[in-house]
Amino acid sequence: MPAEESGAAYWFAFRGNALLVHEEGPVRVPEASSLEALDLDVYPYKPVGSLGGRQCYVVDLDSDAEPPEGMVFRDLRGLFATIDEGLFRMAGRAVQILEFDRTHQFCGRCAGRTAQGPDELSRRCTRCGTVYHPRLSPAAIVLVRRGDDELLLARSPGFPKGMYSVLAGFVEPGESIEETISREVLEEVGVEVRNVRYFGSQPWPFPHSLMIGFTADYAGGEIKLQAGEIEDAGWYRVDAFPDLPPRVSIARAMIDAFVAENGRNGAAAGY
Ligand SMILES: [Zn+2]
Repeated sequence: MPAEESGAAYWFAFRGNALLVHEEGPVRVPEASSLEALDLDVYPYKPVGSLGGRQCYVVDLDSDAEPPEGMVFRDLRGLFATIDEGLFRMAGRAVQILEFDRTHQFCGRCAGRTAQGPDELSRRCTRCGTVYHPRLSPAAIVLVRRGDDELLLARSPGFPKGMYSVLAGFVEPGESIEETISREVLEEVGVEVRNVRYFGSQPWPFPHSLMIGFTADYAGGEIKLQAGEIEDAGWYRVDAFPDLPPRVSIARAMIDAFVAENGRNGAAAGY
């Protein structure tokens, strides 16, 4: 087994969506040469890649699994702001692969059982042969700017208290991502945009999104909130920002890049 050949491996063990990590110190997943060495019962596991030269495995624990001594289960989403980025990426990959396996035990076409497919991540129906791959849901996230110092920031009902962010929405079937952006911004806040430019992307494993970031310029319209989706939105100047998403998020990276580009120092405003 690769884990034994190369010594310790990283084990991304999930009880539901909660990741097994060390209780003390920085967020770390257990390292061991085998699952048994972790003092866990034997559960299904599979390789999901490597991190820092170490093999990584995802483990599907039972819902009543107890953590070994000195370890705890933590919700992955709650770890987002504190966990090392490389570790978060691998944990996100691991939980998405695991969740795909958990939810694709049966074929959606004929209800037959599925088994491991032709490549490592796929599953194939044992009856009709349909092959399934882990699905990803692309979402556009867009920073809308008006002039050099104003950003459109909005609150969704599910956000932490007081937090505002840029707008985001899922790509619909048949849509280009540019069309998603125009539609989402118009639907959510009644504003038109132009000059859509690519910024970057971020895997977002809650449960299986890929956030694709863009910036755009305000082109017209008055802010009008979409009921149920957006509870508040407005144009915010750099020196008067509300609470923003955590620094590791692409939303925050876009906001930070805007601030840097416009040469403002938001420190006085607690930014
Ligand atoms: Zn089938």
